[in-house]
Amino acid sequence: MSTQDLSAQARLQQIQAHMSEACRLARREGEHVQLVAVSKTFDAEAIRPFLLAGQRVFGENRVQEARDKWPLLRQEFSHIELHLIGPLQTNKVQEAVQLFDVIETLDRDKLAAECAEALREMNKKPRFYVQVNTGQEPQKAGISPQEAVEFVRHCQHTHGLSIDGLMCIPPIDEPPGPHFALLDKLADQANVRVRSMGMSADYEAAILCGATHIRLGSALFGSR
Ligand SMILES: *Cc1c(COP(=O)(O)O)cnc(C)c1O
Repeated sequence: MSTQDLSAQARLQQIQAHMSEACRLARREGEHVQLVAVSKTFDAEAIRPFLLAGQRVFGENRVQEARDKWPLLRQEFSHIELHLIGPLQTNKVQEAVQLFDVIETLDRDKLAAECAEALREMNKKPRFYVQVNTGQEPQKAGISPQEAVEFVRHCQHTHGLSIDGLMCIPPIDEPPGPHFALLDKLADQANVRVRSMGMSADYEAAILCGATHIRLGSALFGSR
């Protein structure tokens, strides 16, 4: 049976079972790994069964797409937590801090400054993860590993942002393990809790390396 044929509930249960097994192998049984359901490109009709099955944490990669889908779903379901997992342009900051509970892609000073500015006028306080370009790929967003720890401190102290952790997207043509291990080490050095790493193809490996949050799209919703 393909992923597409299973109900949302069955897919969530299947993933949770794999997550538990990975936690057992990593001797992290008492710990909770958060599943972020990446609903980008899927419409409200496709998302609703996952909400009905109890999933509450979702990821979107575009501000505009999130604005089109989530305000209505939030009226229907309570306690939704929405993560921005795609690049954020400074001209979308105002809207992003309104829409999202967590912004996972903080990666440069100008963006941090704009976010801090936007938050001064709001009573909502989104949390942030710093995106690290662990593969140092020129086309990919994220701060370089060498600058990551200092950047976290800078965001906290200069901008007063609440930095919960780090996030990475390893290069697609390399084994992800060393990238996950690097992110885990940098999070230790920066003294932050969250390691957002691991997607549909490699989330078990990420859990073995200390992931606190995994971001799964196709394993839940089917291929895009
Ligand atoms: C799309 C996306 C995911 C989910 O990818 P899948 O391979 O479908 O699980 C995770 N993280 C980010 C940043 C993404 O853009």
